[in-house]
Amino acid sequence: MNPKIYDYKDEQNWFIGKCSETGSSVYYQEEAKKTYASLERDLRSLFDEGTSLMLTVVKITSAMALVQFILDIINDQQQHTYKASSHKGAILVTENDRLVLVCLPKNGLLISDFFGEEKTKPAELGDTILIATRNEGKTKEFSQMFAKLGLKVENLNQYPELPEVEETGLTFEENARLKAETISKLTGKVVLADDSGLQVDILGGLPGVWSARFSGPDATDQKNNAKLLHELAMVFDLKDRSAHFHTTLVVAAPDKDSLVVEADWPGYIGMEARGSNGFGYDPLFIVGDSGKTAAELSEQEKNDISHRGQAVKKLMEVFPTWQNAH
Ligand code: IMP
Repeated sequence: MNPKIYDYKDEQNWFIGKCSETGSSVYYQEEAKKTYASLERDLRSLFDEGTSLMLTVVKITSAMALVQFILDIINDQQQHTYKASSHKGAILVTENDRLVLVCLPKNGLLISDFFGEEKTKPAELGDTILIATRNEGKTKEFSQMFAKLGLKVENLNQYPELPEVEETGLTFEENARLKAETISKLTGKVVLADDSGLQVDILGGLPGVWSARFSGPDATDQKNNAKLLHELAMVFDLKDRSAHFHTTLVVAAPDKDSLVVEADWPGYIGMEARGSNGFGYDPLFIVGDSGKTAAELSEQEKNDISHRGQAVKKLMEVFPTWQNAH
């Protein structure tokens, strides 16, 4: 038994764990005790005889994060490869293709819900892809694309127990990897995450990864656009206002190197907002030499040429090879 200390911390969860040969305690906040105490009891059966876990739960919102944390400790201490995945509100623990434990929510589950419909085993990695977003519009765009490859799509709204992954990276790829790889690790699924933004040449690539929050913590599209116009107020020539939208897509799966694709959409920042379609910086973004802003394009026209549209097309080309590679 290795007496090292384990620690997991994100915005909503903070756990500290240590294995010992004597005594077993779990220190929870009162609130967490009510909802999550049975998880620790369930998982104790996976520990070798004579080993106990001292667990301190400082903060918790995700049962899945706690289960994965405890499994990581067991895997490290006892050379296992346990994984957690969620199924109809229960958390399944699997090792290779074997189901070893089912952790049920406090009030149990209807038998018909648990065994009903398609999924009765957690190993359906092959035909579903989880998009790491709660945005239904984005999900719809991806689901149309993946349908062509015979893949179903789900999003984080189907997994309310999963934590929000903070975008703390300094590059688009770091952020997309952080989301895809964290959610894949927690769910055991194939996960796609994207990160996009606007890069203005004369501003050294800003707003970049800060595109959504350019005007501060209470940013809105309107405030971001106003700030961008302000920053460029002294740049009078359109050719000096060159910019591009960028997207990086990352697909992550357990025990596989992640797949990364990216694409740019070049244009210029106009002198004033025009058009009412789209979102974000679309009303200011003049598409190439067309004279039209992205907000003056129809949804279909934009998807055909945009950074996201191009990145998804590239992904479709390389995804099957990546999926079949070991
Ligand atoms: P996300 O990573 O796709 O959520 O994009 C982050 C931010 O970049 C958005 O909140 C927008 O401000 C900006 N952005 C990304 N893609 C677009 C686009 O297609 N049009 C306009 N703004 C975009």
